[in-house]
Amino acid sequence: MSFEDSLEQLKRQFLHALPDKKKQIITLWISLRKNWNAHMLSAVYREVHNLKGSSETFGLSDTKHIVDKLELQLKGLLNAPDPELHTIKELDTLFHQLLQNNMRGQPSPPVVEAQMQQSPYKPAKARHDHHIAIIEDDGNVGAMITKQLREFGFSVQHFLNFTSFLVVQNETPFDLILLDLILPDWTEEALFEAATEFEKNNTRVFVLSSRGDFDMRLLAIRANVSEYFVKPAETTLLVRKIHQSLKMSEKQPLKVLLVDDQQSMVDYFSSLLRSHGLIVKGLSSAEQVLPALEQFEPDLFIFDLYMPEVNGLELAKMIRQLDKYTSSPILVLSSDDTMQNKVSIIQAGSDDLISKQTAPSLFVAQVISRAQRGHDIRSSASRDSLTGLLNHTQILVTARRCYNVARRINSQVCIAMFDLDHFKKVNDTYGHAGGDKVLLAFAHLLQQSLRQTDFTGRYGGEEFMLVLPDMQKPLAIAKLNAIRESFSHIVFVEDGVEFKVTLSGGLVFSDECEEFQDCLLLADKHLYEAKRLGRNQLVFSPSGQD
Ligand code: GH3
Ligand code: MG
Ligand code: MG
Repeated sequence: MSFEDSLEQLKRQFLHALPDKKKQIITLWISLRKNWNAHMLSAVYREVHNLKGSSETFGLSDTKHIVDKLELQLKGLLNAPDPELHTIKELDTLFHQLLQNNMRGQPSPPVVEAQMQQSPYKPAKARHDHHIAIIEDDGNVGAMITKQLREFGFSVQHFLNFTSFLVVQNETPFDLILLDLILPDWTEEALFEAATEFEKNNTRVFVLSSRGDFDMRLLAIRANVSEYFVKPAETTLLVRKIHQSLKMSEKQPLKVLLVDDQQSMVDYFSSLLRSHGLIVKGLSSAEQVLPALEQFEPDLFIFDLYMPEVNGLELAKMIRQLDKYTSSPILVLSSDDTMQNKVSIIQAGSDDLISKQTAPSLFVAQVISRAQRGHDIRSSASRDSLTGLLNHTQILVTARRCYNVARRINSQVCIAMFDLDHFKKVNDTYGHAGGDKVLLAFAHLLQQSLRQTDFTGRYGGEEFMLVLPDMQKPLAIAKLNAIRESFSHIVFVEDGVEFKVTLSGGLVFSDECEEFQDCLLLADKHLYEAKRLGRNQLVFSPSGQD
């Protein structure tokens, strides 16, 4: 089959799936309206963005027209505080148009309209990424776990029985359920049966039981529950497991940079990969690659072998010379996949040659597995092994970049240095392992509390750097103070002894310093001042001074 035929076939498949795709996006939008949160917002944005790419590739100008507007509006909301009602209404109208455009000639389905009308927009108090249900008939135990998990920034709802939980779950499924096995209204067997269903539908189930015997654990394994805790479960362990579990199901989209001098090839491979959820930057000339890398950090490169100006091998060698991409996977595309070609490609430092005749499903599988590896390599090299936060070098690089951007476009970035108080004493009293647990818990709290666009790094032992781009001073101060406050309430348990830890912080804003280095010095000075003033507090310049 020629590529033109493949493209035509791809277009037919795409058109066939389009109505469902649109419904899926609108369902996401409805959930977002009910419960505004950053995670869902970025999911809606990503879907709309993908739809934009595909409608471009397949020349669906009507759809593209609406999707362009949607993307623009949603993009504006990504880093903004909760939106105004009129913005929501505008988005409602656009989503409605999107659906009607899909059903051209047919009346729009009243059910979606009705659902939209039913759920007046209520701005959420805080943005939380993950929604957790606790089903626990012992009111005190449930309330205590709820309180502790909220301190870590999770959005938690407590139910005293399974029936009341199901009512909510059927409306808006939770990301994770903590399930007590002995409940007044359902038998253990029925609960395990329900747990199997939830796990199948992407809701993780953790069992919290007073029984830890083999039979019970076996039943849980057979119901595919993710984790099993015997009460009383230790909060830090619970949080670590929750974090691990939810992170697994929330894979970041993989990014591919593709270069082929033939625009039709770029369109074909881009649309193929986009239809599988990848983010693709397609270029038709090699000279565009370096400028593109300033904005787009790919997990994988795909280069056409034969291009008129610069061939794929030369391009691969050039990429290898860039510090950041020395270990990124590079695939070379060719219609000529002879052994000789394969050998020269590997010698040039690329990973493999893929034939242009490769079946689409195999092509996609190869790209995804290599891109995932590229992603893992890049992220593990830049992260701290204990906390998973950015390491010292990366957070500094990031902070400097954000500072430069903020100065250039006249926006504001907040850089904060946090240092745990009397941490040496924590180690001395509760052991190094006890100290590590506190560091980990703090890292989780940071990840839960900040936006996806913020950055957190482990600057040194018990010192952390936070970078909050594009945020006004009062908001940043309130946000960071809330984190400090939450952290001070977390109860740690080591060998049955309960203790709490506090932190001090120094904050600085990009408009307070002429050079990036000055920002670091000022943040440090403020941190030192917070310690001197008695710890467990944040220090920042009074507005307009310093
Ligand atoms: P201050 O309130 O003035 O910050 O006092 P502090 O005790 O926190 O400060 P100091 O800098 O004297 O001590 C920091 C301690 O942090 C010393 C070190 O043992 C501990 N630490 C550094 N890295 C780690 C780590 O990875 N794990 C653990 N458990 N402890 C660490
Ligand atoms: Mg300290
Ligand atoms: Mg210190």
